[in-house]
Amino acid sequence: MSIARLSDLADAATCSRLVIKVGSALLVEQGEPRRTWLEGLVDEIATARERGQDVVVVSSGAIALGAARLGLPKGGRANLADAQAAAAVGQIALAELWSELLGAKGIVAAQLLLTLEDLEDRRRYLNASATLGRLLKAGAVPVVNENDSVATQEIRFGDNDRLASRVAQAAHAQAVLLLSDVDGLYDRDPRDAGATMLSEVRGVTPEIHAMATGGSGSGLGSGGMTAKLQAAEIAERAGIALAIFNGTHTRPISRAIDQGRGTLFLPRRKDAARKAWLGGRMRMKGALVIDAGAVEALGSGKSLLAAGIIAVEGTFRRGDPVSIRDGDGRVLAQGLVEYDAPECAKLLGHNSAEHAGILGYAPRSAVVHRDQLVLL
Ligand code: GLU
Repeated sequence: MSIARLSDLADAATCSRLVIKVGSALLVEQGEPRRTWLEGLVDEIATARERGQDVVVVSSGAIALGAARLGLPKGGRANLADAQAAAAVGQIALAELWSELLGAKGIVAAQLLLTLEDLEDRRRYLNASATLGRLLKAGAVPVVNENDSVATQEIRFGDNDRLASRVAQAAHAQAVLLLSDVDGLYDRDPRDAGATMLSEVRGVTPEIHAMATGGSGSGLGSGGMTAKLQAAEIAERAGIALAIFNGTHTRPISRAIDQGRGTLFLPRRKDAARKAWLGGRMRMKGALVIDAGAVEALGSGKSLLAAGIIAVEGTFRRGDPVSIRDGDGRVLAQGLVEYDAPECAKLLGHNSAEHAGILGYAPRSAVVHRDQLVLL
């Protein structure tokens, strides 16, 4: 049984494991934690666990809290060095806060600080996944954040929305709940008269993307609706539901569920675990542009052969993740490539029978094998 309506998020039979992401604007006000609000949320977490649900928290707020303590301008986001320093200071306060408030309900809090690479690399991903599993089994509530103090611009998630979806995959959760300062996804800028909220989304299509209106409204976090839709795409492909709720009220989860107010992105398909991880990878090392025949072949579940490749971009190595695009620039798939970029360039457009002669060694059966390929 998979999640089909908001109320399923409070049903342990349908949703036994839930990731709750809390944004900076909800947690921090003028540099100080919003304790009373957070106590209400912790109460809801305790209720969920009494119902038999495991909970993982993805908590922002380190940069905002740390910036206030260090007296840094622009909420600590003026530049990378400030953000890294602010996060180092704020993360201690954040961890203490969660530990204290969860502890008051008899719940043990655990802290996991992850970087993008921890989840992009298969071995490290499995390691993080095992740690989350062990903590949950032992009855703790893992509180996860990006390790902003060591993450640099090129190698960071930058927003906790996508981090939450990747954590949900790693934790084998059925749903992600993004608590935000908006009610959900609106069909246009929510400030426009006549904007209506979508209660359900089946597939994040280009039309759905067109509804998002840029960056973080509060200016405190870095998410915004664009990042939330990217998070929804990662989740839906992995068979995970994702909901956006307005977190600004007290006890926001039960309120949104009782009133049926929020946007639910339904899971679209359930790839096997490894393919779901591959499909959710965010940093590609290069790209392969393919012709119409190859587009058709991929669509019917075949591997990508060199004959159908028209261009090779990037400096990837064998085993690296690459994206696969059609001639119009549409990204169709991503997968792990069987050759280094220079070999791909040599083989491009050539039939398999010619490969041994071109390479001087026994060729592989495909440039991207279908077992290592995920259609997007
Ligand atoms: N990891 C950042 C923090 O703790 C927040 C990222 C975000 O705004 O989503 O401050």
